[in-house]
Amino acid sequence: MSTFKAPRGTYDLIPPASATYLAVREAIAAPLKRSGYGYIETPGFENVELFARGVGESTDIVTKEMYTLTTKGGDELALRPEGTASVLRAALEANLHKAGSLPVKLWYSGSYYRYERPQKGRYRHFSQVGAEAIGAEDPALDAELIVLAHDAYRSLGLRNFRILLNSLGDATCRPVYRAALQEFLRALDLDEDTRRRVEINPLRVLDDKREAVRAQLADAPLLRDYLCEECKAYHAEVRELITARGVDFEDDARLVRGLDYYTRTTFEFVHDGLGSQSAVGGGGRYDGLSEMIGGPALPSVGWALGVDRTVLALEAEGVELNLPAAVSVFAVPLGEEARKVLFGLVGELRTAGVATDFAYGGKGLKAAMKAANRSGARYAIVAGERDLAEDVVQLKDMDSGEQSPVPLTEVVEAVRARLA
Ligand code: AMP
Repeated sequence: MSTFKAPRGTYDLIPPASATYLAVREAIAAPLKRSGYGYIETPGFENVELFARGVGESTDIVTKEMYTLTTKGGDELALRPEGTASVLRAALEANLHKAGSLPVKLWYSGSYYRYERPQKGRYRHFSQVGAEAIGAEDPALDAELIVLAHDAYRSLGLRNFRILLNSLGDATCRPVYRAALQEFLRALDLDEDTRRRVEINPLRVLDDKREAVRAQLADAPLLRDYLCEECKAYHAEVRELITARGVDFEDDARLVRGLDYYTRTTFEFVHDGLGSQSAVGGGGRYDGLSEMIGGPALPSVGWALGVDRTVLALEAEGVELNLPAAVSVFAVPLGEEARKVLFGLVGELRTAGVATDFAYGGKGLKAAMKAANRSGARYAIVAGERDLAEDVVQLKDMDSGEQSPVPLTEVVEAVRARLA
């Protein structure tokens, strides 16, 4: 071991387990790629003000969890704690909303950083795949995104997840509700921190996980009783469209989520096998965010799914992904001459699209065959001086142990035919 360890709250992805993470990212991205979402990549850090304004000055993410730094040039930066603000910033900066028809549909995949107390399922560095549809107010778009996340989880073989759905209202009805909720909350017995939150962001008090607070919230007014006609109709259509696609969900009138920018549709995917960190993904509509960060009015909707927690959910359900072995063929040369010939053959196989590895390090036959076994390859190609004298290699089926000579010039085709 070296003198150094991965920082607290982080972990490394190492083969073979890392292959599962890649497969999860690909499985989440696949439905998006089939649905007109283009790939976007933004920097790992942004101007700190983008998150303060975009995510919300009163959120835990901004007040407690951001990794901030001042550069030598005096810039105030933060490692990104989430993706939406950055993606919208990038889309506005590139004028994507003016370049073509709306919505602009984007997907992303990357690392995010939050200074949280580490526990299972909660890390300081984690990974998300996300999607944003920018610049359209259409219940079908909200429904599309929910269905695509559902499809992604299903394609991975997950069963025990639930979709929680709520509407947070809009600029017309939410202020009325906010005032009613504040009036209710001010009469409660709350600590100073929470009382401050009641004044800055009362909806987030509904999200408080502490029993002492929860117990007092049983009779809190609910947003669904305050929704304006437009929000009610919008929400009804989202529900109708998801239902028509055969996707089950639960109405959760208390779902508010930890970020300030959400309006109307809000949803969370929870998995019942994960204990306290049960949210595997979440998202919603954020019609006001663009204006909050200095852009034009661009009603938008999006989600982010956590890769780490999705992998934990797979483990909790005992789902084994059907991952292909890293290589199909492993070449074992016996002697100096064979080393050169097989090295060339390995290159030809790779060019032909066959994943192939080679016994490096001048191993003897026994050690080389052990390496071939460990590689998971279906076939080994073994050749010594006598084989080369006859212009053949031995092609060995690693499962059955059967071995037969194949002319050097026909190896690539023979291997391809057998793998097909
Ligand atoms: P959020 O932006 O907080 O709604 O996060 C979206 C998803 O990212 C969550 O549902 C989790 O799957 C994942 N996530 C958020 N924070 C963490 C964390 N600290 N560690 C691991 N996954 C996280």
